[in-house]
Order: sequence, then C-alpha cells, then structure tokens
Amino acid sequence: MSVTSRSEKRTIPAHTKILGGLILGAAAGITANLTLGSGNLQGFVANVTEPVGRMWLSALIMIVIPLILATLSLGVVGLGDLRTLGRIGLLTILGFLLLTVLSTSLGLFAMNVFQPGGGLDPAVRDKLMVAYKDEAKGAMGLATGKFGIDMFVKIIPRNPIQAMANGEMLAVIFMALMLGVAMMLIPREKAEPMVRFMESLSQIVVAIIHLVMRVAPIGVFCLVFSVTARFGYELLIQLLKYVVVVVGTMALFEFGVYPLVLKFIARRSPLEFFRKIRVVIITAFSTSSSNATLPTSMRVAEEELGLRREVSAFVLPLGATMNMNGTALFEGATVLFLAQVFGVQLPLQAQLIVVVMSVLMAVGTAGVPSGSIPLLMMVLAVVGVPPEGIAIILGVDRILDMCRTVLNVSGDLVTAAVVQRFEKRQ
Ligand code: ASP
Repeated sequence: MSVTSRSEKRTIPAHTKILGGLILGAAAGITANLTLGSGNLQGFVANVTEPVGRMWLSALIMIVIPLILATLSLGVVGLGDLRTLGRIGLLTILGFLLLTVLSTSLGLFAMNVFQPGGGLDPAVRDKLMVAYKDEAKGAMGLATGKFGIDMFVKIIPRNPIQAMANGEMLAVIFMALMLGVAMMLIPREKAEPMVRFMESLSQIVVAIIHLVMRVAPIGVFCLVFSVTARFGYELLIQLLKYVVVVVGTMALFEFGVYPLVLKFIARRSPLEFFRKIRVVIITAFSTSSSNATLPTSMRVAEEELGLRREVSAFVLPLGATMNMNGTALFEGATVLFLAQVFGVQLPLQAQLIVVVMSVLMAVGTAGVPSGSIPLLMMVLAVVGVPPEGIAIILGVDRILDMCRTVLNVSGDLVTAAVVQRFEKRQ
C-alpha cells in the first residue's frame, strides 16, 4: 500500500465517522433487540453502553458553562455598543417566537387533519396507562414549580457561582451579558486583562470541544445502541399513526420550512447549510439534549457556517434555552392527540390556548432529555385533558425526543443565520 493511500485512509472526515457511529449503533441495537429481546440486553445496556454514552454526554455538558461565559461576554464586547446588542436581542427573540408559533400551529394542524388519536384501541390505551403509570406520576411531581413568575425572577442570579453550579442557563447567560456590557463600558485598558483572559478561556474551551468530539463516534454509537436495544417495538407499532404524523410533521418543518427561511430570509443555500450542520444534527439526535449540543453548534456556526461570533455567541446559548421549535410542535400535537384519545373536544379557542401555552412551555423547557414532559403535563391539565394520559406516549418519547431536539438546535442555527444577514445590512 502506498504512503498516500494509507494517509488517505487515516483521514476519514470526522462527520463520516460520527454518522458511522449512528448507523452502526442503530443497526446493532435493533438487531440485538429483535434477536435477544430487550429484557436480556438490560444488563449490558445498563452497565456498558449507557454509562459510556453518559460519560460522553457529561463531557459535552461540562464545557457549556465556561463556553457561554467566555464567548458571550466577548461577543458583547465585540459588538461595541448597547444599541447593536438591543437590536440583535430584539431580532433574535422575534425570530424565536415566530418559528415557535409556526411549528406549534403546524403540529396542531397535522393532528386535526390525520386524527391519529381517534383510532387508538381503548384496550391499548388502558394497558399503556397502567404500564407507564409510575413514570407519569414522577413527571407530574417534577412539573410543580417549573413554570411561573419565579422562572423570570431567577434569570437574575443572586449567586452566579451557584447558578453555574446548578446549570441555570438563563442566569449564566444573564451573567455573561452583564460581564460583556461592563467590559464594554469601562476604559479599554482596564478591560483588557479580562478580555484577554476570556479570549484564552474561549480558545481552551474550543480545544476541549475538538477533543471531546474525537470520541463522538463511540459516544453516539453507545447512546443510540442503548435506545434502540431497549426500545419496545410492539409499542411503536401500536402508536404508529401518532409517531408517523409527529415525525412526518417535524421532517416537514426541518426540511421544508427551515430551507424556505434560509433561502428567502437568510439568503443562504439550504443544501450547503444542512451539509455543514450535519454533525450538529447527529449530536442533537443521539444526545436528545440542546444543552449538550451547544458546544458543537457554536463551533460549527463559527468554523463552518462563517457566522460572526457576536451573533452566534448571543443567539445560540439563548436558543438552546428558549427556542424549541421541535418541542413546541410535539407539545401541540401531543395535547391534541391525547384529547382525541380521551374524547375531549378542543374547539378552536382551546387550540389557540394550546398554541400560546406550548410556546411558553417550550421557552421554559430545559434542554435536557425529556425536559418538556413535566411542562407538557401542565398544558394538558389546563385544557382539560387528563395529564396522567401522558403515560400513553412515554414509551415512544425517547425516539420523538431525539427528533425534536434536532429541530430545536437547527432552529437556533437558522435564526442565527437570519440575524447575521440583517446585522450585515446594518
Ligand atoms: N430534549 C429536548 C432538548 O433538549 C427538550 C425536550 O423537548 O424534552 O431540546
């Protein structure tokens, strides 16, 4: 073998390896599940693949707080004045809001058209309600105190160190914004040492991201294997119509709505955009966590999409916490599905309440696996659908979570591209 061909072999692109991890993980997991049965795989998954996958996930989450602190404060300094910050802020929130309302409405529309809840066998419904009763109760417990005025009060941390330790994203974002604004306001020579420290920290964090992503194929393999090996495929068949409608609508949003926004508003080639963000898509899909995907999307935004740090450092952390288009779509669709299952009529007015609540709940959802379930139960309760009915879909939620997280992070990158375009014009 020649030297060239050997070195060519060594340089398989990183995203191809990660995609390989995803495909192999899914193929191995499904095969193992179908041949050995999910029960027999329990020990292997719990002691081998799941811990390895979780270690990779933790390594990604480990860098989120220093990443936000360094890049966001530097981004604000880079903007140079408060008016630009205000303009970017407004544009970002507007973009988030429009996309979220659109995605929720599309979810509701699809459920109204296809009515998958009407055809669900009542025997299956009762069986699922019993099987996932405890999980539903647990999620209900988590819902208390998750959403309310306190959520807004807590954006300003009393103790920033504690906020960082608790991973309170909005509070950390607020702290980083304040740091950046203050560094911008004080005389340049006084701010210089801190700016240089933050610059050094941000480069160190990026180097860590590169290291952690080197083992991504293994992490992705383990996470996807764990889900597919444990999954109850009979359940998927019983809820097939619901799953197909939800995933189909999500696919329409990802590959129909986002490309339109990219082409006509951000003025970018959608194909190229999606090609460049495929690592982000795979990471979101396998981790089911917007927070864990944030380091990768920040890196891709700067290195691949060429987005300015001032824009990506502001839009992406905020988006990982506030902009959840996939989650909002799933919430709207699931409320309607469960209303159909329980025979609860939801007239247009009630559906408008579902849209508003789903948007608010999506903002309040933490970017972690199944972060939206407790809040979704609150929406169900408000519109008069039994919240414990969530048990019906819990068994298939992980698969839906993987898909909605892809939409959540793609939406952040799309918004960042839109903001960049308007900022350039300024
Ligand atoms: N897993 C989602 C995310 O991190 C949140 C959710 O919908 O449960 O974006």
